[in-house]
Amino acid sequence: MSYLFPPPSVVSLPVVNQEGRIAVRRIYCLVRNYAEHAREMGSTGLEPPFTFLKLADAQALVVVESGETGTLCYPSLTNDFQHEIELVVVVGLAGKNISLANAYRHIYGYAIGLDMTRRDLQVDMANQGRPWCVGKAFDHSAVVGSITPIGQAGAIGDAEIYLQLNGVDRQRSKISELIWDVAKTIEQLSTAWELQPGDLIYTGTPQGVGAVRPGDLLVGSISGLSPISVRIAAPATPGV
Ligand code: MN
Repeated sequence: MSYLFPPPSVVSLPVVNQEGRIAVRRIYCLVRNYAEHAREMGSTGLEPPFTFLKLADAQALVVVESGETGTLCYPSLTNDFQHEIELVVVVGLAGKNISLANAYRHIYGYAIGLDMTRRDLQVDMANQGRPWCVGKAFDHSAVVGSITPIGQAGAIGDAEIYLQLNGVDRQRSKISELIWDVAKTIEQLSTAWELQPGDLIYTGTPQGVGAVRPGDLLVGSISGLSPISVRIAAPATPGV
C-alpha cells in the first residue's frame, strides 16, 4: 500500500532514565478539578469536573525534551493567552469501566503539562453555549515534558504543583487538592471512553491562571517529576 500524502508523524514523549519513548494517542483534559480554580472561573467549586479533548498531532502538542526550554509562538486571534499547569497522567494499560481499586494498574507514569488557552475565545464560546475548540484545541496549545514512571515518581498525592512566570510564583497548590484524584479520574473517564496506552490525561489546573506575553519564561514543577520550561515567542509571521 502507498499513501498519496505522507502519513502524519508519530508524536512521542521521552521517559526519564530510559531510551524508549511513548507514542501519544489521545489527550483528555479535566475542567474545574481544583475547587479554588473553579471559583476563580466563576463556578462554585462544588460541581463535579468535566472533560474536553485537545488535539494530539505534532502541530498541536509541543513536547519539551529533558533539560531543554521549549518555545511557544504567541497564537493568533487572542489578546488573552493564558497558562494552566497540570499533572498529566500517562495511560499504560487499556481498559474501560476501570474500578477505583484497579486504577493505578492502568497508569504508566506522570508528566507536567501546560493546557495553554485562548481565554477570551474560550469564554466567548462558553457564553454562547458553543464548543470551546478554538479556545483550547488550537495549534501548539498543549505542552508536555518527560514522563516519570509511576514507580519513580514518589507519592503523587503528596506532591506540590506550581508554575513560575519569569521567576515569580503564579500558580501553587497540592495534588491532594484535586476534586477527582488520579484514581477517580481514571475510573470516571473509563466509563465514557476506553482508555489506551499512550493516552494523556490533563487532570486540571489549580488557581492562579493568567496571561502570558512574548518574552515570558514559564517553569512548571511538580514534586518528584521532571520540571518543564517554556519561552513565549513573538507571533509567527503570517504566511511563513
Ligand atoms: Mn486545563
